[in-house]
Amino acid sequence: MPHILIVEDEAAIADTLIYALQGEGFETTWVSLGQAALEHQRRQAADLIILDVGLPDISGFETCKQLRRFSEVPVIFLTARDAEIDRVVGLEIGADDYVVKPFSPREVAARVRAILKRVAPRPSATLFQVDIERLLISYRGQPLTLTRHEFRLLQTLLEQPERVFSREQLLDAVGVPSDAGYERSIDSHIKSLRAKLRAVAADAEPIQTHRGVGYSYSPANS
Ligand code: CA
Repeated sequence: MPHILIVEDEAAIADTLIYALQGEGFETTWVSLGQAALEHQRRQAADLIILDVGLPDISGFETCKQLRRFSEVPVIFLTARDAEIDRVVGLEIGADDYVVKPFSPREVAARVRAILKRVAPRPSATLFQVDIERLLISYRGQPLTLTRHEFRLLQTLLEQPERVFSREQLLDAVGVPSDAGYERSIDSHIKSLRAKLRAVAADAEPIQTHRGVGYSYSPANS
């Protein structure tokens, strides 16, 4: 079920969006501040963000700019004034679409559907196949022989392409308490995981290192 993050400080507008989107089968989260949206997207990546331009803390434009430093998630702007539309259209702020207030919630839901349809067929979708019940991951059609920790690590990375996970977050995912000081052990799991992936495709690098930060799964390099 696609997850939509709604960033809007007016509760009445957020409510109509939540109602329309949930009616279409989307999962929704609502936050009213730009900073909260950024934090939410870092923690739990939504599939699409509906972003109001006029927010009380940082503007929707600034939020989008900061968002683009770590996420390619599709963004639909909600704009109130014609003056804002010029900026949305004229500046390359990385938005996918915009809607002018007042809007029809059903129309917004239709745009959400259209954008998700456009971005859905990831080229690498079939490169990895995860069988959760059998704890099995196949890469380019070849089943990988993974330890339990390697399986959880890879599964976690695959679930949110391009998201950069810290070592601490990956330890949590694997099920090792991160306060135990085992952060570096993630590096050795990643190393052995990479060796297994290279055995299938020597030229690909699906797991990217972000120096001083952590790791991410990159479909483009798979
Ligand atoms: Ca507003």
